Amino acid sequence: MTAPTLPTVGDAEATFRARTPRSAALFEHATRAMPGGSTRSTVYFAPYPPYIDHGSGAHLTDIDGNVYLDLLNNYTSLILGHAHPDVVAAVVAQVGRGSAFGAPTGVEVALADEIESRVQSVDELRFTNSGTEATMFALRLARAATGRAVIAKFEGAYHGTHDYALAGSRGIPEAVNALVVELPWDDMAGVRERLAGRERELAAIIIEPVQGAGGVRPATPGFLAELRAFTERHGIILVFDEIICFRIGYHGAQGEVGVTPDLTTFGKIVGGGYALAAFGGRADLMDLLDVRRPGAIVHGGTFNGNPVAAAAGLATLRHLTPARFEELNARGAALRVALAEGFTRAGLDAAVTGAGSLFHVHLGGVGSRSAACQASLQQAFHLSMINDGYYLAPRGMGALSTPMTRAEIDGLADAVLRNVQGVLAGADRG
Ligand code: PMP
Repeated sequence: MTAPTLPTVGDAEATFRARTPRSAALFEHATRAMPGGSTRSTVYFAPYPPYIDHGSGAHLTDIDGNVYLDLLNNYTSLILGHAHPDVVAAVVAQVGRGSAFGAPTGVEVALADEIESRVQSVDELRFTNSGTEATMFALRLARAATGRAVIAKFEGAYHGTHDYALAGSRGIPEAVNALVVELPWDDMAGVRERLAGRERELAAIIIEPVQGAGGVRPATPGFLAELRAFTERHGIILVFDEIICFRIGYHGAQGEVGVTPDLTTFGKIVGGGYALAAFGGRADLMDLLDVRRPGAIVHGGTFNGNPVAAAAGLATLRHLTPARFEELNARGAALRVALAEGFTRAGLDAAVTGAGSLFHVHLGGVGSRSAACQASLQQAFHLSMINDGYYLAPRGMGALSTPMTRAEIDGLADAVLRNVQGVLAGADRG
């Protein structure tokens, strides 16, 4: 490991600005065209994000020519990295045959078959354009099936941007907020207590078996099994949001933990880098969408099951054999061990969580630092990593992709340890 530097946010920001003048200019222009210069809250970070020129395999190149090992992979959706030859070939072949039709195509059926063959709880599914729509429809089906209105989700959860997913946020009516209960994470006694007397008001409990935005926190399998038994006892639909965590195994997170939900939502990798997501599960629930039946729930969507996205998703899943999952997950496990051991060895106030190919580096969580101090440590760490050529989520999350080499992952571990050490040392002096 090289000698630790002592970056503060200010130092890291100065370095970042010096490396990215073209991105600075484009961001400045963008702020006049889009609120906050961006079309998506999640890609902004201060002082401005680098604009990407292109991606290839495990790497991104920004418009200033800086190259990054891409650990964000468009928020975990590109498990084969950028422009994988199988995916490019499938997309090019489909684009040449037309990009969208007001009619179904064979490729959407093939992708549905592929997902259903991997996930035993999914008898039938429907495609959407985003994970947001997938969770929205899963909850709507649960309400339609149960005739109940209330839904419950977990503290730290992220299920997209529809009103029920973001209950409590600005712009969402009180009437909607009143229909959403927040539950304590991984705590069955707490869940029982929070829902006591209201169990029969609940249409659905939605949970990420591995929380993504909440810090890449896996729920314990025992907790998920108890939640399954609880929901069954009270006639509540259990929804697994596997939009991120489907990437942790060939049969998804539910295959890893051996717990069967009623409905599952998918996104990210199932579109192979294109805009495609899905929700699926028990046939009796999904059949509420069967237009041949009276009173079917309307599920339009101009681009649902878009054939270009479906072709990309199919090529991606076909490439992801059980052996490839095993190899990628072993690399994820080795990275997490190397980081955890490195933090302990150096006595650093930092931790790593994760599952499969996912990881999240948490700074300053063990000591008695304030939330604001933790946030600024995380920010300094993130910018330092960016300056070192590692593209992570600002909150410290990363995901490995199949084209990453062992040497690149070893280099990543060294860079994380070096920058955590530097940032913490800087904070302790400051
Ligand atoms: N659920 C989970 C677990 C997610 O991580 C996300 C996106 N990060 C969503 C839902 C929403 O998906 P989308 O951004 O495609 O709407």
